[in-house]
Amino acid sequence: MSDKYQDLWHGSGRRQYVDGLIRNVPDFPEPGILFKDISPLLGDAKAFQIVLDALAESMWAGGIDAVVGIESRGFIFGAALASRLGIGFVPVRKPGKLPAAVDRVSYTLEYGSNTLEMHKDALRKGMGVAIVDDLLATGGTAAATAQLVGNQGAKVKLYAFVVELSFLKGREKLGDVPIVSLLEYGAGE
Ligand code: AMP
Repeated sequence: MSDKYQDLWHGSGRRQYVDGLIRNVPDFPEPGILFKDISPLLGDAKAFQIVLDALAESMWAGGIDAVVGIESRGFIFGAALASRLGIGFVPVRKPGKLPAAVDRVSYTLEYGSNTLEMHKDALRKGMGVAIVDDLLATGGTAAATAQLVGNQGAKVKLYAFVVELSFLKGREKLGDVPIVSLLEYGAGE
């Protein structure tokens, strides 16, 4: 991972600028959840560019051959990053959305379970992959995505998130792979 992204991100008030465009929505989608809404960030061209610049910088020189984006907000950042880096984009989707043959993984949530799918022919053996999503919470979604990547013989080289809810300790589910998150928040922040 290139550390130059740290300079880019922390210089000239960029971090504060983007932070001001993450909207807190209490009790969405259910009571007790403080939802981090990135819509204001996306609607602001400068903030969106700052975020893409910083994440793209962290991804150079990492042996990354493809970006795997997680439905649905991971598509927004992941596709833009893949385009900047000149590499392919692979969508990981909720069940029943991908048209061709899929690999599938199910994982447990605090209540219930979730399933994610990726096309069987999405990656080749030995490819290096960056997994991208808007937000890291408990880490279950990113860890399940890593399983899909590993099942195709590819290797996760980096996880990249805009937001990390560090009090949920999602990092602990992601092993030794480098993790970039631009904005970290504690409980209730
Ligand atoms: P997790 O599997 O717990 O790490 O959850 C990560 C996924 O759920 C990401 O795709 C996020 O977009 C979404 N998510 C979880 N918690 C929040 C939150 N508080 N605000 C916004 N998105 C969230």
